[in-house]
Amino acid sequence: MLTDHLPRIALAHLPTPLEELPRLTKALGGPRLYIKRDDQTGLAGGGNKARKLEFSVAEALHQGADTLITLGGVQSNHCRQTAAAAARCGLRCIVVLRGHAPATSNGNLLLDYLLGAQVVFSGDRTREAVAEDVAKEQRAAGHRPHVIPVGASNEIGAVGFVAAIEEMDRQLKEQRLNVDHVVFASSSYGTQAGLCVGAKAVGFTPRIAAIAIDSSRAELQKGVAEISVATIRRLGLKLNATPDEVVAYDGYLGAGYAIMGEPEKEAISLVARTEGILLDPVYTGRAMAGMIDLIRKGEFDKDETIVFWHTGGSAALFAYADQLLEGETR
Ligand SMILES: *Cc1c(COP(=O)(O)O)cnc(C)c1O
Repeated sequence: MLTDHLPRIALAHLPTPLEELPRLTKALGGPRLYIKRDDQTGLAGGGNKARKLEFSVAEALHQGADTLITLGGVQSNHCRQTAAAAARCGLRCIVVLRGHAPATSNGNLLLDYLLGAQVVFSGDRTREAVAEDVAKEQRAAGHRPHVIPVGASNEIGAVGFVAAIEEMDRQLKEQRLNVDHVVFASSSYGTQAGLCVGAKAVGFTPRIAAIAIDSSRAELQKGVAEISVATIRRLGLKLNATPDEVVAYDGYLGAGYAIMGEPEKEAISLVARTEGILLDPVYTGRAMAGMIDLIRKGEFDKDETIVFWHTGGSAALFAYADQLLEGETR
């Protein structure tokens, strides 16, 4: 495997299932839809960060760390999975979350507390500045902190998605399945960079097509290419990566990050009711809404096959309960 020479610890339940979505396919009138169930990776509720953390936490342990520090939004799936990984490895964990403490601690924030993480709110300062201060304080107190960036999106974490492409490539061969597109939610560039590098390295032909969650197409292209280049270097591969080959749709940003609108609500409800699968309000709901819109606009041929890469996040649903139930008959 491409990643065998790098430090890695087993944290995720792998391989995740690759399943057909016959009732959603029918509801949308084609193309043929499959789903890659990275919502089932484990670490206290699943999600794509488990794959990255196998490498990020191994690197922290390799450097002798006793404390993980990471950062994210209030409903960060990444922070929750990092807290779970820290607990599994006997490490301390501090998560720095954007803004001020909400009135109630629900969803991922509740889980951060249950998993034993110390939660720090950044208030009016940037999360990065606060995380840096926290690391300094920890060092001064005699601990050995290791800071994992937002979304574990650097060349260390992205390697998890290079390995994920090898995993899916094997599954496609086993299932004798030809896929034309892989569609997923892209935000902090690491997942997409890993998928793109992995695809190039193994000759994986499906088009890696991101739905942007909170950045423009140009921002995604630049950010993904940068992490891809660093990931290629870390893996010792002889490849290159350029912004223009990064595929991203940025027409679904809605009212901003973590603000759920009607398209996300419709996508969450449709997938729940046709397939019994839970999406999330921030990432996969938006990515699915984007994919549904692209299907309705004829962006994909009806005889093509698409894999929707489910990146997790359903723990956040509970923090959006009131909005999700608005207009529903109970
Ligand atoms: C973090 C996250 C993503 C985006 O992954 P990036 O590597 O930041 O692009 C997508 N879906 C869910 C549920 C996430 O938590």
